Amino acid sequence: MKLSSSSPEETEDLGFRFGELLKAGDVVGLYGDLGAGKTTFVRGIARALGISPRDVTSASFTIIAEYPGNPPLSHVDLYRLEDPAAVDDTGIWDCIGGASVCVIEWAERLRGLSNGGLIRVAILDRGEQEREIIIEGLREEDWRNL
Ligand code: ADP
Ligand code: MG
Repeated sequence: MKLSSSSPEETEDLGFRFGELLKAGDVVGLYGDLGAGKTTFVRGIARALGISPRDVTSASFTIIAEYPGNPPLSHVDLYRLEDPAAVDDTGIWDCIGGASVCVIEWAERLRGLSNGGLIRVAILDRGEQEREIIIEGLREEDWRNL
C-alpha cells in the first residue's frame, strides 16, 4: 500500500492511523534515510497507543526505549549500532514478539529477523516536504482501515 505525506504533521497522523491497527506482538520495521521521517511516524504510532508523542525522540545513545502504553511500545533505533554482530547484545530479541508493539528504525541492520511476521514501512523523501510511505505485510483485513 502506498500513502503520501506533504508535512511532518501529516506523517505523524498517518503513523497514528497505522498505529491504531497494531496489536501486542506486532513487529514493525522502518526503512528510509536519515531525515526521512521515521521517528515522526513513530510519534504517531505512540499516540495511537496512548503514549505522549513528545516522549518519543531520536535515540542518541539508547538503542531501545520502552514506553508504557496499551499495548506498550518498544522503540528500537539501530542507527548507532556500528557492529551488526553486536545486535544480539542490545536485548532486542527480548522485546520482539512479546506483549509490546516493537518498532525498529534501520531494521535493515537487523540480521536474523524473519520477513514473515514483519510489517515493513519504507519512507522515501520525494523532495521538499513530500514523502512516499510504502507499507507491506500488514494484515489483509486491516488494509481497508487505513
Ligand atoms: P528519521 O527518523 O527518518 O531520521 P525524523 O522523523 O527524525 O527522521 O525527521 C524528519 C525530518 O524531516 C524532520 O526535521 C521533519 O521536520 C522533516 N520533514 C519534512 N517533511 C516531512 C514529512 N512530510 N514527514 C516527516 N518529516 C518531514
Ligand atoms: Mg529516527
